Amino acid sequence: MTASDWRKMLKQFRNKPAIRDKVIKHNKPKERTTGIARKKCERCGRFGAMINSYGLNLCRHCFREIAEDLGFKKYS
Ligand SMILES: [Zn+2]
Repeated sequence: MTASDWRKMLKQFRNKPAIRDKVIKHNKPKERTTGIARKKCERCGRFGAMINSYGLNLCRHCFREIAEDLGFKKYS
């Protein structure tokens, strides 16, 4: 499955709930405890360059875009 989001494939089982549950049971990726795939940007889904300070859980790209809206101020 792609790294973006494994739930995308469930769209094809919209009208077949029993089959959907079975597919989820057997194909759901396991929860990671270590490694780069453990943390994911909440906004875009990137794995790299995470900012987890202050409970942000954003990648650096998203942080740059929405930092001012969040109340951060650039001093340089
Ligand atoms: Zn992001």
